[in-house]
Amino acid sequence: MHPNLLILGGTTEATALARAVSEAGLTGTVSFAGRVDRPVRQPLPQRVGGFGGVDGLATYLRAHKITHLIDATHPFASAMSHNAVAASAQADIPMVALTRPPWSAQPGDNWTNVPDIPAAVAALDRPACNVMLAVGRMHLAEFAPNPQHTYLLRLVDPPKAPLPLPKTEIIVDRGPFSEASDRTLMETHQIDLVVSKNSGGTGASAKLAAARALGLPVLMIDRPPQPKRHELATPGDVLTWIHSTNLGV
Ligand code: NAP
Repeated sequence: MHPNLLILGGTTEATALARAVSEAGLTGTVSFAGRVDRPVRQPLPQRVGGFGGVDGLATYLRAHKITHLIDATHPFASAMSHNAVAASAQADIPMVALTRPPWSAQPGDNWTNVPDIPAAVAALDRPACNVMLAVGRMHLAEFAPNPQHTYLLRLVDPPKAPLPLPKTEIIVDRGPFSEASDRTLMETHQIDLVVSKNSGGTGASAKLAAARALGLPVLMIDRPPQPKRHELATPGDVLTWIHSTNLGV
């Protein structure tokens, strides 16, 4: 049977995998949640929107005759990742996750690690300062208990509704970013503290290098737990896994 992949995307790594899959002449579709107005163009066909939970994804896998499911979503997209594991079992379709290691502090870093977003919010219960809040648009409301800070937000799309934080400075831009430009950004906005998810990867790491260079503290939010699953590190590993499955490829 010719492989027919479904790649759960929305990351730099998923786009790299889609490129590798396309170059290998394999068939596949990249799936986006629909959180941004213009998802990065993929070298494979793409679809947008939720599947409707575990049952919806299992139905999609069967209906589209998917042979391999690859979860290449962001490490903080844990609901999707749990659904992917459950749906692949329900539809009896092999699945792997394409993952990236978390960032770890280097010499010169001044990080405080917190386990989750509520802990980051609690840590911000302090006198007003200028915070670069790099947690994504979906989580801004959780920071409303600390309206005293001025928050620098970098968003992929301009906000369509009033933000849940009273004092914000908004940059509309999409990564990857460079250390030099992030340094300039932090200096221009007189940033005192950077709040970041521990996303890992290269697309968003420039802010950490910039914070290190400027001696700025970072509040680093640990990743949510992921389900038990088979994890691979590179697009090449995923291609090898596809070829190693006994589907007569
Ligand atoms: P999430 O909380 O884990 O997922 C919530 C729901 O959104 C899922 O149950 C699913 O809806 C839908 N969904 C999520 N990813 C999808 C995908 N790739 N294709 C189709 N439906 C998807 O996810 P999230 O944290 O909001 O992230 C959404 C997307 O943004 C993901 O594709 C992720 O890779 C990307 N992203 C997330 C972050 C982050 O920090 N969370 C950062 C960068 C990129 P149904 O249950 O209806 O299927």
